[in-house]
Parts: sequence; C-alpha cells; structure tokens
Amino acid sequence: MSKRMGFVINTKRCIGCRTCTVACKMENNVSLGVSRIRVLNAKNTMVFDKPVGKYPYTNESWVTVPCQHCKNAPCVKVCPTGASQKREDGVVFIDKDKCIGCRYCVWSCPYGARQFDEENKVVDKCTMCMHRTDEGKIPMCVNVCMGRAITYGDLNDPTSEVYQLVHSKPVRILKPEQGTEPSVFYF
Ligand code: SF4
Ligand code: SF4
Repeated sequence: MSKRMGFVINTKRCIGCRTCTVACKMENNVSLGVSRIRVLNAKNTMVFDKPVGKYPYTNESWVTVPCQHCKNAPCVKVCPTGASQKREDGVVFIDKDKCIGCRYCVWSCPYGARQFDEENKVVDKCTMCMHRTDEGKIPMCVNVCMGRAITYGDLNDPTSEVYQLVHSKPVRILKPEQGTEPSVFYF
C-alpha cells in the first residue's frame, strides 16, 4: 500500500502559544500576512482571547489547522494550470512556477488553508515541510511544539504512531460533510 502522510493533533495538549505558526513562517520563508498553520480559538479566530466560563470553571480550547492534505482535494481539481498537485504519499503542494494567482483553490478549500501571498502574487499553503521530510526530518511544526500536540507519520503504516493513535483514540476530522477525506485527525 502506498504511503499516506498525515498529522494527528491532540487538542488537549495545545496551549495556543502559536510557536508552530511562527516557526513554520521562519522555516518556509512565508510572506507577511500569510500563515500556513493557524491556531484557532473557540470563535474560529486567531486572536488571543479570554477563557470561557466562570471562575473557577474556566476553559480555553484551541484547534491547530494546517492544510488537511485531503485525499479528495478540491483545490487540486479546480486548479486550471496544474500548479496544485498531490504527491504519491498524499502531500498536497503548489508548484509556484505554474501558479497564476487565480485563487480558485482558495475559494474551493473548506478549511481556509490557502491564502494569497500579496508579495509574490501566488497562493501559499502548508507543504507538510516536504523539503524536510524528504531528508528524513520531521515537519517544523511537529519539531517545535512544546506540548507535543502534533504527531506526524504514515497513516497507512500500522507500526507508525499516527496509525496507532487513529486506531485507538476517538479521532475526528474537520468538516466531514465536505467529503474531502482529510489526512489530519483530531482528538
Ligand atoms: Fe486543498 Fe484545503 Fe484540503 Fe489542503 S485543506 S488539501 S488546501 S482542500
Ligand atoms: Fe492553481 Fe494558483 Fe489558481 Fe490556485 S491560484 S488554482 S494554485 S493557478
């Protein structure tokens, strides 16, 4: 069976620090105003927020949202130039040389995972740090997360940690009704 690379994210371990967002920007030289991995609060915004509830029963929750590297990716289907592509291992990426900045992919993505890069006039998104993983390293967000909230690996490999988490935890995917079959799972 071919590989299907993905993330499993433990939301209880995320403290909302956004180290992943910042480290990703540094690693991938991401332009100002663009975030390849966003950490959203309960109101679905990236703004630092106060906890909900009444003291002492307060709560604060976060959802880390990189590209979901969907198995059935609408962004790849709508791209008129073939710039948006999916690799054999399931990683969805953009060939920037082919991107004409039409933004069809941005509108087709149900997760807001793609953003227009005003500086370079192309669309930008998470590549699962394929330049690192092709060298045997882990993605930068996984590397820097101090809460160890993000696990990376092959979802088709029964010996991998991600496979074991997906098959032992009550995992969920974002927006299952979209039929995109994300490769990012949450618990
Ligand atoms: Fe495409 Fe959005 Fe799915 Fe990523 S999350 S593969 S950008 S549809
Ligand atoms: Fe394809 Fe670029 Fe248009 Fe997105 S903006 S659909 S990657 S050509």
